[in-house]
Amino acid sequence: MTPTDDPMMEPRYQELATFMRAPFRPDLDGVDIALYGVPYDGGVTNRAGARHGPREIRNQSSMCRTINHASGINPFELCNVADVGDVRFSEVFDNAACNDSIEAFVRRILEAGAVPLAAGGDHSVTYPVFRAMASPAEPIGMVHIDAHCDTWGPFRGSKFHHGSPFRLAVEDGLLDPHRTIQIGIRGAQNWADGWEFSQRSGMRVMFIEEFDELGVEGVIAEARRIVGDGPTYVSFDVDGLDPVYAPGTGTPEVGGITTREALSLLRGLRGLNLIGGDVVEVAPPFDPSGNTALVGATLMYEILCLLAEARTA
Ligand code: MN
Ligand code: MN
Repeated sequence: MTPTDDPMMEPRYQELATFMRAPFRPDLDGVDIALYGVPYDGGVTNRAGARHGPREIRNQSSMCRTINHASGINPFELCNVADVGDVRFSEVFDNAACNDSIEAFVRRILEAGAVPLAAGGDHSVTYPVFRAMASPAEPIGMVHIDAHCDTWGPFRGSKFHHGSPFRLAVEDGLLDPHRTIQIGIRGAQNWADGWEFSQRSGMRVMFIEEFDELGVEGVIAEARRIVGDGPTYVSFDVDGLDPVYAPGTGTPEVGGITTREALSLLRGLRGLNLIGGDVVEVAPPFDPSGNTALVGATLMYEILCLLAEARTA
């Protein structure tokens, strides 16, 4: 093999790290699917570090290749996939202003006609993403994998934190709770407020015990039933996985989903009307081997395959 001008075909330890070695296109010109980073963890209620997620996911995503061995999808052949950079924050100590920066960044992606796929960041970043993507006239559905419902109320005087994005999104009419499924929920809580909000609002809350009872195929069938044909977002919090597979995260919960189950679950979402996604809560300071970032990058690749096929369907 002689050197090529395609970085994706070169040895994977070379050159600058972009998401999956895709070209860096911050101008968004001609981009179909925009891979972007949200280096923000101002919403964490426990261990910080997810602000370093995008950079380390970029690094580990050099391990990704092009053709999905299970589905045969090559997202880079189907679509013009690019790394469009990170959200830039002008006021890093102001949560509301940071939310505005994220929303504005995603609006730019959508105005360019591209599909957004993010690497977080803590989970609070998904709420401003929804502000850009949805409206009360056109709310979206969601497949949400997480140990936590993230539908809690204000924490210590702020409504912008990583335990609240989907409560805010429902209250704003952006997220249709009846087309939302939360998968992998577990772990003791000091207040049951979040679970209760999810269930009261009409979300389908699937605790990990039910996941085990149904098996992955049953979980897929239920997710497809809940979200139906409408526009749907995929939000994957790595703490939905067992900490054995994803120790590098702020609020780990033991007894979670395996990486094999997660890959099968995502592949089972083929054919849905998917309009965007994210992988959040990778916290490199707690991830000395880099494995959580590799897992995060791999989940992003699987979601990318889904989005590429959905866009060209
Ligand atoms: Mn979460
Ligand atoms: Mn979580």
